[in-house]
Amino acid sequence: MSIFSKIAAGEIPSYKCAENDEFYAFLDINPMVKGHTLCIPRREVDYIFDLEDDEIARFQVFAKKVAVAIKKVLPCVKVGQAVLGLEVPHAHIHLIPMQSEKDMLFSNPKLKLEPEEMQGIADKIYAEFKKL
Ligand code: AMP
Repeated sequence: MSIFSKIAAGEIPSYKCAENDEFYAFLDINPMVKGHTLCIPRREVDYIFDLEDDEIARFQVFAKKVAVAIKKVLPCVKVGQAVLGLEVPHAHIHLIPMQSEKDMLFSNPKLKLEPEEMQGIADKIYAEFKKL
């Protein structure tokens, strides 16, 4: 079981931002900016392009809704989307509220936020997601 499957199953704690039967979203523990969120399918697949056609379509619609919720909570120019998957072998979409393209550089130093602030951000995104 991947670390992200354990997160989606609630066996490892996370800052939950959104969920449905098929997908789960939570804050990246090493955020590039405030509100940096990961979306995952509950079904454990390493490479995102190994998802079935209909599954990846629903995954993208889920990520879109999470991005809409993020933008309501964290004012930004746009929410950027990226897929790397070089570290964790469980498909995930990074959603990153951007002020400029520099916010999408994965080589940037990561933020260290207090747990209370992470929880506050996640709770606000979750509340906005539930309204959609
Ligand atoms: P990559 O697989 O290259 O897309 O990177 C994996 C991402 O997952 C990194 O941005 C990590 O900070 C993030 N990450 C790894 N473990 C956790 C965790 N337990 N909770 C939240 N984010 C994590």
